This record gives sequence, C-alpha cells and structure tokens, in this order.
Amino acid sequence: MYLAPRGTIDILPEDQPYWLHVYDQIRRVTQLYDYQRIDIPAFEETGLYVRGVGEGTDIVDKEMYSFVDKGGRDITLRPEFTAGIMRSYIQNGMRTRPQPVKVYTTGPIFRYERVQAGRYRQHTQFDIECIGSSDPAVDLEVMSVAWQLFSELGFEGLSFQLNSTGCPDCRPGYIRKLVAYYEAHRGEVCEDCRRRLERNPLRLLDCKVESCQPIIAGAPQILDDLCSECAEHFGSLHGYLDGLGRAYAINHRLVRGLDYYTKTVFEVWAQGIGAQNAVCGGGRYDGLAQELEGEPTPGIGFGSGLERIVMLMKQQGVPVPGVPGPQVVLAYHGQPAKIRCLGLLTELREQGVRATMGFDDRSLKAQLRNANRLGATYALVLGDQELAADRIMLQDMVGDAPRETIELVRVLDELRTRLGVEAACNASA
Ligand SMILES: [Zn+2]
Ligand SMILES: [Zn+2]
Repeated sequence: MYLAPRGTIDILPEDQPYWLHVYDQIRRVTQLYDYQRIDIPAFEETGLYVRGVGEGTDIVDKEMYSFVDKGGRDITLRPEFTAGIMRSYIQNGMRTRPQPVKVYTTGPIFRYERVQAGRYRQHTQFDIECIGSSDPAVDLEVMSVAWQLFSELGFEGLSFQLNSTGCPDCRPGYIRKLVAYYEAHRGEVCEDCRRRLERNPLRLLDCKVESCQPIIAGAPQILDDLCSECAEHFGSLHGYLDGLGRAYAINHRLVRGLDYYTKTVFEVWAQGIGAQNAVCGGGRYDGLAQELEGEPTPGIGFGSGLERIVMLMKQQGVPVPGVPGPQVVLAYHGQPAKIRCLGLLTELREQGVRATMGFDDRSLKAQLRNANRLGATYALVLGDQELAADRIMLQDMVGDAPRETIELVRVLDELRTRLGVEAACNASA
C-alpha cells in the first residue's frame, strides 16, 4: 500500500468547506483592496531562490527541494512566492503599469521542514505582494489586508508585531554591534547561534533555545541604530496605525537577515492559539528587484500558511458554510427505468437542480439508504410499474410526508416549485 509522502496531507471532501470558505474570503478581501490574482510556476531556476531568498536563510540552506532536470537545468520547487512574483514583475515589464502593482496568489509551496502540527513539506500559502511604492501607507495597506482577512475568518484578539530591519545604510552598523555583543557571550549561546554568528547574525534574534533567551533579551536593538530615512518610515507607519486605532507591539526579535529586506517587518498575532501566535508574516524588500537584476523597485508583502489557518479555525470552532449535497436522488428498478432516469437526471441538472442517482443496479432499498446518507431533500423512485403508467414516486426525505405518485411529465415542474429553483434560462434565449 502506498502512503502519502511524509509531511504531505490529503485535503478530503469533508474538509473542503473550510478551504472554500477561506478561498472565498481571500477573493473577497483582496478585491476590496484592489488586488488582482497572479499565478506563477511551481518551480523556477534554483538561482532565483538562492538570490531572491538568500544564502544564510533556513530555506536556502536546508529546506529546498532542488534537482537537476532531464535538460541539465538546476530547478527548485518554489519554497515561497515573493522571489517568483518579483521575477514575473521584472520579466513582464510591470514597471510600465500603474504603480504599485498589487497582486495575490494561493498555491502549494515546498519546504523540507521538520514535520509538526499544521506544518507540512507541501503546504498551501496565501501570499500578497505590493510592488512599486515605498510609501509607508502601502505598508499599512498590506498589513490591513491581513487584519481584515483574519478577523473575517473569525480570529480574535488580533495584534500586529512590528519591527524595522533597517536598510543597507544603517543595518551594517547595527550588525557590528550585535556581533560584538554576541562575541562577548559566545560561550553562553547554543551551537546554532555560534553558527548564525558567522553566517547570518540577525537570525541570532530568532533562536528558540531556552538558554539563549536572556542573551537575546539583553542584545542591542536595531531601532536604536536606524538611519533617518528608516526611522522616518517607521515613525510614519506608527502614526498611520495609531490613526486607525490598530493594536501593535514592537517586537525587537522580528528581523529578516538579508540585505534586500528593508524597513518594515511584521506579523499578525491572534489570541488563544497557543505558543505560535502568528497567522501571517511579511515585510518590505526594497532591494530584491536589484538582487534579481531588475531596476530598483520597492515592494512589500506577506504570506500565510493555510493548512495551519484551517487547523486553527477548526480548533476554535469557527463556523463555515456547508457545501450543499444533492437536492434530489433518483432510484430505479429495471433497465427501461434506468434509461428514463438517466434522461431525467440530465433534465434536472439542466434546470439547475442538484441531482444524482444510484448506480450499479442495486436494490431500491440500498439506493434509498444511500439517498438518505447523501442528505437529499427528495428521492424519486422509478420502477417498471410506474414507468408503464407514466408516473414516478416522489418521497420527501426530510419531512414525514407520505410517498406520492405523480405524473412523469409533471415531475420537473413539481420539483422546481418545491425546491424553489428558478427556471433555468436557456443560454440562447
Ligand atoms: Zn536605514
Ligand atoms: Zn541559540
């Protein structure tokens, strides 16, 4: 027996109402903010991610699904969306469109991660990117998309976690301070942190190891070292957030350890969802376009893992609209009745009635049991005798009305009336 690969899951039909609801809300909220959908390939040249996500990140160092294809090309399954979307922006000359270009997407991303609840090696991400503006009001707008989406998905006690990651002018000075501080504490930090100290010092602030926490708490903070431009950007964003009355907290540990990440970094946290509070994370990447050999172009975005969002919605008992089952199930006995039922089924569907029928010539009893399990409102039963009399039996599966026999020619009108289905307009009419 084959099993799904470790770190992957099937999203079964009974879970789909959550997914459809999440996708519906994503489409609705992104439309409110004037974001348009974009779709990009599920794999790209490996170099795009090495440059666009960066060496020194866990993604590039440990987590990519990379391979050489049959043409000898280095290929990687996308581990995130931002680099691919920026590649698309550059390749398709989107600079000439009205700026900023505001796009969103959803789809699978692939990371070889340690498997845990809500975290998979293939997972579905919702991602938005706003490219072509450096206005801090755009940061606010991107953050607001997340806020509105997650509050409409039923998450409570939302707050922003906010920091600045500086820029190539001011960050190096801060990193020197941070490194000097950690050099003085080298003996007290974990193995990983000693490695980060060499490779990607900003990531030191990410360490989850208990014994490193006091060191992090005492570390210098980047906000003290921002250049005037970065400080002004951060100050404006605060002002905008205050103006909207949005809850936010400065989180000094929130950083992105690469040169092309700049200024704003943020997460949205929700209450009551345990240790990992974040429902999404993102930030500004004003240096990314140049890193990918495009014209200097600012941008900001965020991503959110939807398997985890759905898991949290279930845990919190968030109600979602059900996906409707069939309104009518047809049961038949005998081949002539089966043929008539196949025709009737087509007519019902053309009239906008959700309908299905029993197959495999099973007993009427088995077919009706199945109709019940499917949650049908009505069952239609057609046997040889009814067919000979041009009639059909109609059974109410919800109420306790007795079974009726009605004329076959009337059955479509009758069901439409009872189900309140509007007569379908002919496409040509
Ligand atoms: Zn700066
Ligand atoms: Zn550590």
